[in-house]
Amino acid sequence: MLSFNPSEVRIPNSHFIGGIAVDGGTGIDVKRPSDNQSYASVPNATPDLVDQAVENAYRAFKESGWADLSPRDRAKAMKRWANLIENDVNTLAQLESVGSTRPISAAVNWDVPFCAEGIRFYAEYADKCGGEVIPTQSDHLGMTITEPLGVVGAIAPWNFPLVMASWKVAPAIAAGNAVVLKPSEMTPFSVVRLAELAVEAGIPSGIFNVIQGDGLVGDTLARHPMISKVTFTGSTHTGALVMTACAQSGTKPVTLELGGKSPQLVFDDIKDIDKVARRIAGAITTNSGQVCVAGSRLLVQSGVAEQLIERISSVFEEQIAQSTWQDQATLSPIISAKEVDRIDSVVRKTVEEGANLYTGGCPLETADSSAFYKPTILTDVDMSMGVVRNEIFGPVLCVETFETDDDALSLASHPSYGLSAGVHTADLNRAMRMVKSLDAGTVWVNRYGRSWDFAIPTGGFKSSGIGKDLGRQAYEANRRVKSVLIDFSE
Ligand code: NDP
Repeated sequence: MLSFNPSEVRIPNSHFIGGIAVDGGTGIDVKRPSDNQSYASVPNATPDLVDQAVENAYRAFKESGWADLSPRDRAKAMKRWANLIENDVNTLAQLESVGSTRPISAAVNWDVPFCAEGIRFYAEYADKCGGEVIPTQSDHLGMTITEPLGVVGAIAPWNFPLVMASWKVAPAIAAGNAVVLKPSEMTPFSVVRLAELAVEAGIPSGIFNVIQGDGLVGDTLARHPMISKVTFTGSTHTGALVMTACAQSGTKPVTLELGGKSPQLVFDDIKDIDKVARRIAGAITTNSGQVCVAGSRLLVQSGVAEQLIERISSVFEEQIAQSTWQDQATLSPIISAKEVDRIDSVVRKTVEEGANLYTGGCPLETADSSAFYKPTILTDVDMSMGVVRNEIFGPVLCVETFETDDDALSLASHPSYGLSAGVHTADLNRAMRMVKSLDAGTVWVNRYGRSWDFAIPTGGFKSSGIGKDLGRQAYEANRRVKSVLIDFSE
């Protein structure tokens, strides 16, 4: 029985600097997405406090010995951290669930263990990625050595608070850096527990810091002169501001994981239409579509379109909309009442523009609130409509049909986004042609969504981002390369 009473969860409502909880700044009211009730307040950091957090992290980077520790000892501490996270699964999952859109069963079975395993994955890189010996004259030695960057500023989103934070923090810390993490002001608490456990595991105080706030905290962090790199996940608009801040404050490197409008191409040779319907439905209802890689554009070959849409619509009906603290809940609430209204107005406008509302199209009432949005299918849409062009971040599936492979590719092409795509076909040659031609940072074939393969990097093309989370690439992006040439001819 995973259900719990949300008012009994102990909330760590503070910043976390130098290994301890720190108050400071006026309080921001934080609401539970499931019922729109205020349940805690979080301090809003002043610029001075951001400064204090970064300086503290810099001191820990220079003086704690973490960066100079033998890589295997760094790995051991990180593995202890991952074990502590797994042992703490109930506390962490409740903390995650109470204030975010993550149902408790998902938090227990995926978010927390996925976060722990990601930390373990990066721990294992600590002693496996190094420099190179470079071919040069025989009386010279050319090589590259790598070293940590210093203090990494991480700005993580609200849709998967623990997992998204771990994708940024784990490679940075494994690579020997200190981190100042700024979680979303809407989901600020579970990462504080994550940071407490890092200290308990023996990672030196000050290596992992959390700074809370809303308004100017992210910008102040990104511009801080002692920050060496910024990693951000969120909207394309804010990603551009982060990049500007980094360019103007020391040409700092950035990793940006931004918006998407990912197509799912379904061909009429698919063998099992029910299975594909379930996959397509899952790709837009997981976390109620509040996922950067949500498969929000279904492009289906006309011969199979009607049947497929009907089946997706019946899978939608199976979703259980309950508060995240109920263990039967499968459909996530929308992050805020304001976002429910925004999604609803986009759908209404699209219908006014001539689209056909196949199913859904309105908020979903539950016993507690109307914090949910009915999984929605819109047909008769095209790229001239905002709903097809823009990231909706809700359970809204737009459907277009095609006849030929070339039509499919032309519909799949998006003017600005290139995050991910799905291809569903029984024809391997066709699948390979699609993989080669699609303008997307990730292409899933006959599946959709992430696996436990942390070695597969994730990141978008075009306005969907720069650099990668996960994979060896994310580890390497947290170290800098120094070139060395030694002349031993004398
Ligand atoms: P934003 O993209 O606006 O990101 C908000 C975060 O960025 C906050 O932590 C904020 O902190 C920080 N921030 C804002 N401005 C700056 C700046 N100039 N420099 C540095 N940091 C900054 O996301 P929202 O949460 O407002 O969500 C808006 C939309 O973004 C969603 O509807 C969705 O479409 C998309 N999104 C995409 C995600 C993804 O996975 N790709 C995840 C979440 C949202 P502060 O205010 O203190 O500066």
